[in-house]
Amino acid sequence: MTALLEVRNLSVAYGAIEAVRDVSFSVEEGQIVSLIGSNGAGKTTTLRTISGLLRPKAGDILFEGKSIADAAAHEILEKGVSHCPEGRRLFGRMTVEENLHLGAYVRKDNGVAKDMERVYELFPVLGQRRNQKAGLFSGGEQQMLAIGRAMMSKPRLLMLDEPSMGLSPIMTQRIFDTISELQSQGTTILLVEQNALAALALSDRGYVVDLGRTTLEGPGHDLLADTRVRAAYLGED
Ligand code: ATP
Repeated sequence: MTALLEVRNLSVAYGAIEAVRDVSFSVEEGQIVSLIGSNGAGKTTTLRTISGLLRPKAGDILFEGKSIADAAAHEILEKGVSHCPEGRRLFGRMTVEENLHLGAYVRKDNGVAKDMERVYELFPVLGQRRNQKAGLFSGGEQQMLAIGRAMMSKPRLLMLDEPSMGLSPIMTQRIFDTISELQSQGTTILLVEQNALAALALSDRGYVVDLGRTTLEGPGHDLLADTRVRAAYLGED
C-alpha cells in the first residue's frame, strides 16, 4: 500500500546549519503520526519543508506516491496538505468567520458553508463568537480557530505544529481530544509535539527526532513504554 505521505532521507539546511539530517518516516491514510523531540530538533523545519515553504537539500517527499519536493506551497495545499503552524498565526484583527474563510481560499467546490458549520460543531465557542475578532480570544480558543482554519481546506493530511504550546492542562486535553475526533472523522494527522506523553498516547506511530535525525520509531504505545523515551522526555531514570 502506498503511504499517504512518505519522507525519504530528507535533509534541510539554513545556510551552513543542517537542521534536518537524513530523516525518513511515513504516514498511512487514517493514522495519527507524531514527531516528538526537544526544542530545535528539526520538527518545525520538517513540516515547513513538507508544506513547500523550505526546499530540501537532499531526499524526497512523496504525497500519494508522487514527489512534492519541488512543488509550490499553494500546489501542495491544493493537493490536500494543510499546515497549522506553530504559534497559530491567526489574523487577530479579522473575525473568526473571516479567518475560517481564508483557510478555504484554495477550494473551488461549494461545500465551504457546510464545512464551516462542521468547525462550529467541533468547537461551539467559535460558532458563538463567529463575528468577534480572533485577537480577543484566549490561547486555547485561538488554537481551536487555527485548527478550524486548517480544516477549512478539507485536507487529506493535517499537519499540526505544537498545538498544545502555552495551553493549560485542561485546554491541552481538549485539543488532544479534538485531534482524536478528527481522526475518527477520517482525517490523517501528522503531529509535532513537545508534549511527548500526550502525543504518543493517541498516535498510531511515533518518531523521536533528535538533532535533526530520527533516533527511535514505533507504535505510539510502544514508544510510551520505552525506557529511553521515558528517560528523555518524561524525566524518569
Ligand atoms: P521547536 O519546537 O523549537 O520549533 P523544532 O524541533 O521544531 O524545535 P526547528 O525549529 O526545526 O526545531 O529548528 C531546527 C534547527 O534549525 C535549530 O537548530 C534552529 O536553531 C535552526 N533554525 C530554525 N529556523 C532557522 C532559521 N530560519 N535560520 C537559521 N536556523 C534556523
